[in-house]
Amino acid sequence: MNTPLTLPDQKKIGMVSLGCPKALVDSERILTRLRADGYAFAEDYAGADVVLVNTCGFLDSAKEESLAAIGEAIAENGRVIVTGCMGEEADAIRAAHPSVLAVTGAHQYEQVVEAVHLHAPPSQGPFVDLIPQPDIKLTPRHYSYLKISEGCNHSCAFCIIPSLRGKLASRRIDAVLREAEKLVAAGTRELLIISQDTSAYGVDIRHESRPWKGQDVRAHMTDMARELGGLRTPDGQTPWVRLHYVYPYPHVDQVIPLMAEGLLTPYLDIPFQHASPKVLKLMRRPANEAKVLERLKSWREICPDIAIRSSFVVGFPGETEEDFRYLLDWLEEAQLDRVGAFRFEPVEGAAANALPDQVAEGVKEERYARIMEVTERISAAKLAAKVGRTLPVIIDEVGEPDEDGDIGATGRSQADAPEIDGAVYLRSAPATLVPGDIVSVRIEDADAHDLFGVIA
Ligand code: SF4
Repeated sequence: MNTPLTLPDQKKIGMVSLGCPKALVDSERILTRLRADGYAFAEDYAGADVVLVNTCGFLDSAKEESLAAIGEAIAENGRVIVTGCMGEEADAIRAAHPSVLAVTGAHQYEQVVEAVHLHAPPSQGPFVDLIPQPDIKLTPRHYSYLKISEGCNHSCAFCIIPSLRGKLASRRIDAVLREAEKLVAAGTRELLIISQDTSAYGVDIRHESRPWKGQDVRAHMTDMARELGGLRTPDGQTPWVRLHYVYPYPHVDQVIPLMAEGLLTPYLDIPFQHASPKVLKLMRRPANEAKVLERLKSWREICPDIAIRSSFVVGFPGETEEDFRYLLDWLEEAQLDRVGAFRFEPVEGAAANALPDQVAEGVKEERYARIMEVTERISAAKLAAKVGRTLPVIIDEVGEPDEDGDIGATGRSQADAPEIDGAVYLRSAPATLVPGDIVSVRIEDADAHDLFGVIA
């Protein structure tokens, strides 16, 4: 007679993950580590032995959201450990919520795990300890964020990331490529490369080489891009590889041919933040001397389908009407595909707060409305030009059949990163479609943000 196997009682962790994709990657790492230590995960507050809140502390509004999330977790469960960017402000957290069990900062994986061990000691057992399991992912299985470095060597006047996260610390190139290979083998069809400054990858470790697949590969954005472009999914497809937070350093030119060859997704996320040389100087932005408009032109000559996304801040201290008009004129010329605009908001601890000539709130609002008007018009025209074309689309969601039996699906073109860009809405999708499928879609219609079409 067989003895029935019973797993020991596993402690359960609840997780509330706030903030940007980089914070999401941290949450995944923490959960992966905790599962290796024998923890299980709770679906709701009530089932958790302890709740982790991974906070964002970048803007005051994000801090408020973080404090509210901590408050909710305390009210619903009572046993709460705080981590993430706002963890650097432990006093403010404890003042608002004295009953939190522990507060740790961004990337303090060891400290979070230790705090969990202390407040909800793990059950030990041979089955828990020995079963190998894949890494935990909080994003859908078909796309994954891949973090290549932490921190930043710049000191932009509006940003406190370097003080929150420290100087640039790049991962080894072989570790990055191994993780990418593992993710693709496990079903990832789209890799999103993230960091604070992807173009600077490897600077801190002098672009050290590591052996990879029989050759030496440098910790450098261009080598990394070339290797990522060589990955194949289990069914032999080239996965989409999207580069985020790329500053226009000269070597960025070298990845454009890889995009033209179809090895990298023709998409660059370049946070320009402004165009006026005077404002860029006040902002202390890196790589602002580059002749960006000329370079955009030459990139488009090499890879006509390249999509450029960027973000801009309006109402930065010292921005005059003339500077702002310069930005609008620049945008008309640059014809960027996707633009996010933000009104300047002082962040506690940022150098920009002390700058003279702060812009009145009413003026910021007015400039924000104007920049949105221009960028939406450009976006609408760019999307309208895609009507009639057939584009590859990655499927994110497949709906239920309606009363006529039609199924709708939502996906993204190569010009759309998840969560920040637009979508492609499909009608009459086949029932066999699943998230992660990459299909050819004939575009039938467009608005200012999204495309609409059918499978070709
Ligand atoms: S480049 Fe500037 S904005 Fe970006 S993380 Fe570094 S300091 Fe902040």
